[in-house]
Amino acid sequence: MTAVGTGHVTAGSLARPDGDEAWLVREQGLDRARLGVVETQFVIGNGRTGTRATLDEGAAGQRSGVFVAGVYDGHDSSVADLVNVPDWTACTIEVDGVQLGIDTHAVESHERVLDLRRGLVWRCTVFVDDQGRRTRLESVRLASMARRELCLQRLVVTPEDHDARVRLVHRLDGDRRNLDRLPHYPDGLRPEPEVRWEKWALTRHLVTGPRVGDDDGLYLQTRTRQSGVTLGLAAHVIGDLTPDRREVVRRPDAVELVQEATLAAGRSWTTDRLVVIATDRHGDDVREVARQGVLDAAGHGVERLVEEHVAAWQELWQDCDACVDGDEVATRALRFGIYHLLITADHEDPTVNIGAKSLSGEGYRGHVFWDTEAVMLPFFVHTRPETARTLLGYRHHTLPAAREYAAESGCLGARYPWESAGSGQEECPKYTEDGQNRIWPREEQLHVTADVALGVMRYVGATGDLAFLHEQGAEILFETSRFWVDRATAGDDGSYSIRRVMGPDEFHSHVDDNAFTNHLVSWALRQAAATHEEMARDVPDLLADLTARIGLTGEEVGHWREVAERLVLAQPGPDGVIEQFAGYLDREDVPITTWDDNDMPQYPEGYNHHNCEDTMLLKQPDAVMLLHLLPELFGDDVTLANYDFYEARTLHKSSLSPAIHAVVALRAGRHDKAPAYFRRSALVDLADNQGNTDMGIHIASAAGTWSVLVQGFAGFRLIDGRAHLAPWLPPEWDAIAFRLRLDGHRLAVRIDRSETRLALEAPEGTETTVVVEGRPVVLRGGVPVAVPLGSSEGSSEDSSEDSSD
Ligand code: BGC
Repeated sequence: MTAVGTGHVTAGSLARPDGDEAWLVREQGLDRARLGVVETQFVIGNGRTGTRATLDEGAAGQRSGVFVAGVYDGHDSSVADLVNVPDWTACTIEVDGVQLGIDTHAVESHERVLDLRRGLVWRCTVFVDDQGRRTRLESVRLASMARRELCLQRLVVTPEDHDARVRLVHRLDGDRRNLDRLPHYPDGLRPEPEVRWEKWALTRHLVTGPRVGDDDGLYLQTRTRQSGVTLGLAAHVIGDLTPDRREVVRRPDAVELVQEATLAAGRSWTTDRLVVIATDRHGDDVREVARQGVLDAAGHGVERLVEEHVAAWQELWQDCDACVDGDEVATRALRFGIYHLLITADHEDPTVNIGAKSLSGEGYRGHVFWDTEAVMLPFFVHTRPETARTLLGYRHHTLPAAREYAAESGCLGARYPWESAGSGQEECPKYTEDGQNRIWPREEQLHVTADVALGVMRYVGATGDLAFLHEQGAEILFETSRFWVDRATAGDDGSYSIRRVMGPDEFHSHVDDNAFTNHLVSWALRQAAATHEEMARDVPDLLADLTARIGLTGEEVGHWREVAERLVLAQPGPDGVIEQFAGYLDREDVPITTWDDNDMPQYPEGYNHHNCEDTMLLKQPDAVMLLHLLPELFGDDVTLANYDFYEARTLHKSSLSPAIHAVVALRAGRHDKAPAYFRRSALVDLADNQGNTDMGIHIASAAGTWSVLVQGFAGFRLIDGRAHLAPWLPPEWDAIAFRLRLDGHRLAVRIDRSETRLALEAPEGTETTVVVEGRPVVLRGGVPVAVPLGSSEGSSEDSSEDSSD
């Protein structure tokens, strides 16, 4: 299919990553029990695809996963799965007839490095066979950020101290399964890693189509059973020696390129496999796109492809880098989180969004939650607003499904599902994964619909993107307002209630007038009415089109205002505490008395996820989340009262919880609490401190960690469209630095103990104002400013430093 490429390949930029350790995540030595965790941590991706870091040559018990954004399938499964698509990395390596791998060989040394700066994973393992002969396997993987359909895998096999006949099989493998349920072993039973997944029901979403190949070009096509998405993978293999046997082998669900060569001791055999993954989700001819894509890529040569990829990453880091001077662990963790956010967000395709486990594992079946708007969006809004717009575009794209969902619920307007996938329908299961417990988020976590409206307004407030507001945002605001007005119940006293809901705290279901939900709804209704007014004034034609299209009347808009005002909105009591929902304060106040090794609270004896309903125990912030998302509603004294009250009752059983607590602790003046919560959030996947990193990255935590640095320690907030900074640094930190996008320009911020340095990377003559510790500071393009802390004066400097490298 493609021309043979036998050429010279050099180690070049694919050599072992070295240098600043704060850019590198290392796996040193092979710990079989941790393979699943590393598979997730070292995922490579580019917003279109995510590939788990399974060992190239395969290993028993590994959970291989390749995911393509937006490719879901509901076959043989109660809710849609993010499909585990064909594995483009699969290979078999035989040395003198024995398959290389950790199941057949001893491992003398093993190292993997995730290079965050360049977005690639390098690996080197030295195997020893039963005759004591050593063979080294090196590999590099990347998913190109420059050509996002392209992935690359380099393999280097070296029989170190023996001549060997080497057989190298590059496979495109369509024999794939998704886990039907997640493993749930009885307490105390820890299965061997090799058999961990074995007894679990597996779903097969793919039907194999054409498998073709000639010389070193391969093509595999599959189709998802229920959603009918066609996937085409084209591979092209370039090697640095001419094998003496080369053959294409077609298997029932795979196609392979088999090559053999005899290597003298110490001679390395390097192959580069270029793979293009195409889908017909946007109507493309997948075979043509895949074939042409791989041909183009091969024509450029590997070195050039790597250069392009690294340059694209450099640009991304110019937008987003963040670090802590003098704390390598914190810096690496921040960058690790940002890396994962960048490899899972697609800034071009508004038909996809970010699942709660990104494109890194099967956890939550790849579903999209409120996590996007409530926790992830601030990172994108303030560093890569074009991505934020695309993520919100998904909510506009799924508006038809949200309308149907509202209608199914007996309401007008649009209701967003608690969990969604490709179509935007509700995908939240009704039972826990073990089938034992009925859960209610699907029916009751209505707040997601208001969270989406909040996301729209936060994006517009930060960017001034009125075109988005008028073209997409307004429709979301108006249709969701209709839903709320219809869902609310009028009381005899003229008030309105929202009954039978669940707030963010999932320990309490069937509650009435959840403070978080009602305040957000009221806020969203006001925003909708204000947007309507603004459009009537500024863009009457657009408004007329929209109202005609959705059949909106002026009377309805009046009703939004009325419900916004009369909705039951819990206010602080005499002690400042906002009751989480009607009757919450009458529940049993069960004290938390034990903490784990991470200093996180444990369930009081006798309690678990499913029996806290009658208590005041919380899974995660609820009223505190309200104060985080709508800080403009209440003053700092109320924030403090609620932080103290609810933190003492929160078990942090969601990974979203620690970061939000850190940000709110800083605002409440509980500074001493923030560093521990920051660490807990920052290390959630690097230290696997929730115990389930093997199922995927806690991607909201990654964004939450960024928020702790920027919105928490730096005190960054937009108030009436103007950026404010109110820094506080933990005593053990020298300085923090990060980069933002402000008024369309990059802003480098560096805060140390004595000053805040700000450098607006904009053309000369550009001017904007930032408020530091309550005092306005004028920033000019290309002129760095140092603002002494505890003072108002900003002093211009000549130097043009880059704060975050
Ligand atoms: C949390 C939800 C969150 C979901 C996905 C749950 O454990 O309670 O708030 O949306 O995880 O991250």
